[in-house]
Amino acid sequence: MTSPQHHDIVVIGAGIAGATIANELLERGQAVCVVDAASLPASACSRHAYAIAHPHVGRGAPRLLRLTRIAFLMAEARWSKVWNQHGIFQPSKKDKLFNRNEVAGYLQSLNLDEGTAQALYAEEAIQVCGIQQDGIWLPRGASLNLSAATNDALKTHPRLTCCWNTSVARLEKTSAGWKLFNHQDESIMTAGKVIIAAALETKQLAASMDVRLPLRPVRGQLSIFAVAENTAWASLLPKTAISGDGYCLPAKRLPDGSYQWIVGSSFDEGEFDLQDWDLSDNFNREQAKGLLDYARGDVSLLHKSGSFVGVRCVAGDRLPIIGALTQRPGIFLATALGSRGVLWSALAAKLITAQVLGDDFALLARLGFAADLVAALAPARFFAGALAAAPALGALASNSKPILPSAPKAR
Ligand SMILES: Cc1cc2nc3c(=O)[nH]c(=O)nc-3n(C[C@H](O)[C@H](O)[C@H](O)COP(=O)(O)OP(=O)(O)OC[C@H]3O[C@@H](n4cnc5c(N)ncnc54)[C@H](O)[C@@H]3O)c2cc1C
Repeated sequence: MTSPQHHDIVVIGAGIAGATIANELLERGQAVCVVDAASLPASACSRHAYAIAHPHVGRGAPRLLRLTRIAFLMAEARWSKVWNQHGIFQPSKKDKLFNRNEVAGYLQSLNLDEGTAQALYAEEAIQVCGIQQDGIWLPRGASLNLSAATNDALKTHPRLTCCWNTSVARLEKTSAGWKLFNHQDESIMTAGKVIIAAALETKQLAASMDVRLPLRPVRGQLSIFAVAENTAWASLLPKTAISGDGYCLPAKRLPDGSYQWIVGSSFDEGEFDLQDWDLSDNFNREQAKGLLDYARGDVSLLHKSGSFVGVRCVAGDRLPIIGALTQRPGIFLATALGSRGVLWSALAAKLITAQVLGDDFALLARLGFAADLVAALAPARFFAGALAAAPALGALASNSKPILPSAPKAR
């Protein structure tokens, strides 16, 4: 019997996380083997073509704020060629008084310049970005086609090997590294270092090494609405993205004069179902009214013309899990990207590559990775003693809140 092929670095998962990490490793001169259960890249959650990205600017989550700021800069630089910068408006909460000067002062205290975030009253916002609501304008906010970005990251490269239709069932330690097995318990390959970027499936793969990860599915559905030009909606549709309770993209005018408008997303904890749900579209119709502050809007005029359904992977504390699995040397994790696949995959590419290649701390620090931020993302935060050693980690803020509503379960 021939021995399985050996690779120095194997990445399990060809979604945006695995693809971006593999691409960064290739750029750093490494040979990489990417393994995926599917027959092509971006077959799961990263099929998403309409993912928005902006740094978090909310209050009360200093670490999330720092992390999303670094990640946003990395994402912007990485995908500059396909980065769809249209700006994102964050309306203020309707039940809270909005004081522009106070919010501007807060943004300044975060060292966010006006090119990044501006507090605006409704009468200013309508001039600046066409939205007549109080809130924060993020001119650099953008969207990314995750599927296109994933495919581009995995385009043919002399040092890249891709193994499609190859599902990994378990990993076993060897003297020189790790052995990967399929579901028939046949050894598929051996590897010096393994990066697991298999979203929810990372939980099973970690369990095969006796490591328990607190990962959960959160189903989501985006609705693609068709809006006729002679309706009241048409005159209100945004030219920019809006992110509040839910989010929407700029409406796109079609050759027949009607509009295509993408609004999302539902938020169904613990659900795996990839079928399209009418209830989720209705939920998104209600979110559409909220985003445009158009309570009287007739939702029957938002005709469904398509949808995207995916299952997000989230960790117990809603931050991504990115870093070396220190109790299993040679294993690295990049999972639980939640609703920030764009930001966290860009950050994972830099951090995992630095750790795989053993970059020194000075290089990590130059990228903005202070020790507390690395610890906040590390798998080790979930294991015995971690919370006692670093109590602040227990109070990390949500990974999905600014994009996903905490509102009642929608189907
Ligand atoms: C409705 C909705 C809206 C969203 N909106 C946004 C947004 O606006 N902005 C944003 O940034 N993000 C958004 N996201 C989140 C984003 O889509 C995800 O965070 C991202 O796609 C996750 O990428 P991933 O690579 O971790 O996982 P995936 O894309 O799920 O990739 C995992 C890969 O691992 C492979 N795999 C799994 N198990 C195995 C195995 N055992 N062996 C081999 N291969 C395996 C799978 O085949 C798959 O290709 C949204 C998600 C949803 C559902």
